[in-house]
Amino acid sequence: MTTNLLGLDAQALEAFVAKIGEKPFRAKQLMRWVHRYRESCFTDMSDLAKTLREKLTEAAVVAAPRVISDGSSEDGTRKWLLDAGNGNAVETVFIPEANRGTLCISTQAGCTLACEFCSTGKQGFNRNLTTAEIVGQLWLANRALAVMSHDERFALGKRVVTNVVLMGMGEPLLNYDNVVPALRLMLDDNAYGLSRRRVTVSTSGIVPLIDRLRDECPVALAVSLHATSDALRDRLMPINRKYPLRELLAACVRYLDRAPRDFITFEYVMLSGVNDGEHHARELAALLAEVPSKVNLIPFNAFPGLEFERSSREVIRRFSDFLNTAGIVTTTRKTRGEDIDAACGQLAGQVQDRTRRLIRMEKVA
Ligand code: SF4
Repeated sequence: MTTNLLGLDAQALEAFVAKIGEKPFRAKQLMRWVHRYRESCFTDMSDLAKTLREKLTEAAVVAAPRVISDGSSEDGTRKWLLDAGNGNAVETVFIPEANRGTLCISTQAGCTLACEFCSTGKQGFNRNLTTAEIVGQLWLANRALAVMSHDERFALGKRVVTNVVLMGMGEPLLNYDNVVPALRLMLDDNAYGLSRRRVTVSTSGIVPLIDRLRDECPVALAVSLHATSDALRDRLMPINRKYPLRELLAACVRYLDRAPRDFITFEYVMLSGVNDGEHHARELAALLAEVPSKVNLIPFNAFPGLEFERSSREVIRRFSDFLNTAGIVTTTRKTRGEDIDAACGQLAGQVQDRTRRLIRMEKVA
């Protein structure tokens, strides 16, 4: 059986290299070829001995998920739809800004958590992505975005993706065993060399796994909050019935002991008439009083079959002003890539239907 090297962190790659009878330093060399230079052809790994290249050709592959579609928005946002097998697909979105490039990646095909306002939640759960599929999204994006010649790929400092957020399809912490090796690769200097501050795990609030992440691989943490009371959060995010607000916020405070940033980002989707009132803003400020926080307001993106509507611009502005005045740094997410359905909340929107259609079309072709 061949091993997909995209899924091996430093320790696993050393074990693989030992298994094929090679010295440990080969693991670092190989990691640089695979991730830093994004090379998938072992024959082109010019500083590896010929015998090793032959062994690798026999025993390994470098295989990212298959791209079903690749769309670019007028604002530069780029979205890939990737095959997750059995008629399912996941999405990866690149959002360029003046001083950084953020890649939003998926960790599961579907999601078990069924949040009321989320298109992914409405699709149900298919499966966890493997480490190779998670890292493969970064590998693919770097490869597609870097318009460089083979030699230029060796130049350092030409990183196009500067930030990664695990905020696409799925709940990252419920795929912990595959996500953590992927995070380690993102941080590894021989792979992607991103700082812990530039890699963000976004969770709906799986309390025991927030604690585990803090102990094992503390990267920046974002929490999908979306409500200021247990009653409302129970309704919008059923996971709250298991880990209510008090427990979630206590876990956030514990996380800050080891976090690379001295605040937690709280995501708050603005749903008209549901969670966007003045009293909600007041409750939110009170709730976060003891947790060093930043709040990111997300204008809701409507999709068919849901009764929610986006809060008006004016309501979002007032909500934001209230929080900022209360001393909580609050930003409003810009809606990006609307022409390719890449805006937040639509990340996996209608993917399954569209994917099935695409796959059917491909079969027909
Ligand atoms: S918001 Fe996140 S956790 Fe909730 S259903 Fe959607 S993908 Fe899952």
